[in-house]
Amino acid sequence: MSVIAKQTGRSYALHCIDLDRFKELNDTHGHQVGDELLKLVAERLNNLRSENVVCARLGGDEFALLQNLEQGESAAVLAQAVIAELSKPFELSIGPKTLGCSVGTALSEESSCEPLEMLRRADTALYRAKNEGRSCYRLYDAEMDKVLLSMRRLKEDLRADLAAGALTMVYQPQVRLSGEVVGLEALVRWTHAEQGPISPAVFVPFAEEAGLIRALGEFTLRQAATDSLRWPHLKIAVNISATQLQEPSFVEQAKRIVEEAGASPRNIEIELTEGVFFRDEHETRATLDALHEAGFSIALDDFGTGYSSLSYLQRFPVDKIKIDRSFVTALGQDPKADALFTAIVKLAGALEMRVIAEGVETNEQWLRLTRAGCPKIQGYIASRPLNADSVQTFIDRARTRNQSDVEPNLSLEPSRLTAT
Ligand code: C2E
Ligand code: CA
Ligand code: CA
Repeated sequence: MSVIAKQTGRSYALHCIDLDRFKELNDTHGHQVGDELLKLVAERLNNLRSENVVCARLGGDEFALLQNLEQGESAAVLAQAVIAELSKPFELSIGPKTLGCSVGTALSEESSCEPLEMLRRADTALYRAKNEGRSCYRLYDAEMDKVLLSMRRLKEDLRADLAAGALTMVYQPQVRLSGEVVGLEALVRWTHAEQGPISPAVFVPFAEEAGLIRALGEFTLRQAATDSLRWPHLKIAVNISATQLQEPSFVEQAKRIVEEAGASPRNIEIELTEGVFFRDEHETRATLDALHEAGFSIALDDFGTGYSSLSYLQRFPVDKIKIDRSFVTALGQDPKADALFTAIVKLAGALEMRVIAEGVETNEQWLRLTRAGCPKIQGYIASRPLNADSVQTFIDRARTRNQSDVEPNLSLEPSRLTAT
């Protein structure tokens, strides 16, 4: 490339292209359908070919375009054209499918840029594009290398800390209006030696990329199961990502870990997000059924943030829905929010599912959602996530308060019932 550039005095752009969610399609519908799609992609990319552009398949679902920048369109225009072309539906034997793609682009302008380095740069830009929401293109810049390097270090540190048992679990109480604790959500915590606490929203995806999710999942479930022995009357909710659930031996592993801890699956609630329903429906159902059979219950996290929630609720055996914080935040802000909230609570009731609202922070939110019929909440207003010892203190305090309380009553001020 730059060798070509040097020889010819021309500048080039290398575009690396990766199909979004190709693996999902391949896993769900088989390699035959995957191959069908790859042929159609190759055809469309060939149609974008001109005397300035050559096209190649790098392997798997990765393609590349090498573009002479001396004449014709700019690198950005071609990258956008690729995205537009591959975002149109593909007519496959299983019906039309829309996938989209991500594009990473490197320019040959820097004279030191050898072919392999150019490929590495385009690939780095592609990685960034995929991480920034997909269906977009990114142009390589040196800053990306720094970010990548620090991410790689962070993954290595996570691996080491996980092996050393340096991560911890905290538990956030789930309460009734009376203050009674009815459950706990287990949340993992990691404090990095230099960077301080890092949110699980950041490091759980890292763990997935670094192949550490199985180890992380084992740690969280084992710790939660061990701690569940302290509260035999409560269910402890454990977050399980779609990737974890997909592992073929997930159910067996979960059963084994809980058993080894001397705990019961009846005290463990598996918390999933709607993402799991976009995987193979048959397999997901079988996994959820097997979890039920073993005694685990299933909660649907972040309810209302995905789509098609209603049909999924009907088709999958879900015991509980957790209404996402965004609905709680809207209470009192948006005139329709209360009605929407009431409707979700009624829906849960009609489907005989338990329901809880999460991320409740203010008295007003708590009162409004109680009026909407929601009996339980989780959120800072009741308590922040606590370590296991503090959970015990919180439960004891709530019990003492409860004994002196009259019947729970909507005229109660929620602030009277919190731990502060
Ligand atoms: P999530 O499952 O939706 O967890 C709720 C998050 O909201 C937690 O953040 C919790 O601390 C926070 N939160 C609770 N109450 C309030 C509130 O009143 N206001 C606000 N603003 N936030 C509140 P956290 O612990 O940082 O976890 C973030 C996400 O990381 C979780 O979202 C979950 O998706 C993931 N996660 C946490 N622990 C684990 C784990 O052990 N395994 C897996 N796979 N994922 C985990
Ligand atoms: Ca959760
Ligand atoms: Ca949630």
